[in-house]
Amino acid sequence: MVATENNTVKTICGYCGTGCGLLVEVQDNIITKIRGDKEAPVNKGQTCVKGAFAYKYVHADERLKNPLIRQDGKLVETTWDTALQYIADKLSHIKNQFGPNAISMFACARSTNESNYVTQKFMRAVMGSNNIDGCNRT
Ligand code: SF4
Repeated sequence: MVATENNTVKTICGYCGTGCGLLVEVQDNIITKIRGDKEAPVNKGQTCVKGAFAYKYVHADERLKNPLIRQDGKLVETTWDTALQYIADKLSHIKNQFGPNAISMFACARSTNESNYVTQKFMRAVMGSNNIDGCNRT
């Protein structure tokens, strides 16, 4: 993000892979308004409704800010290091016990090309599985 004048932050929308340029107005660290960036070649000042209006979640009390791991039937807050190690251990266990084809991954059509590239690379090169699909055929 690049801060500009009048507490406005110039950034890229993360809701989908289109990559619209946004101007995010901030007061006291709270988002007050989002506008399309006229200088952005992708959207030239336009946005969809999500890009312009769907930002209340940023400051929502119920927003998840840390990973959760289920322990004894309850979701317990943990650190990213612990959560990532937990996932790595589980994936390794499944791969060792049942083989790489026991694992599949679904990528998100709204993710960027770069994220989806890394997803398929992880599955093929690390997990040894071609079981990759996405929701972009709907
Ligand atoms: S199309 Fe909408 S959701 Fe996608 S990047 Fe642009 S403003 Fe964001």
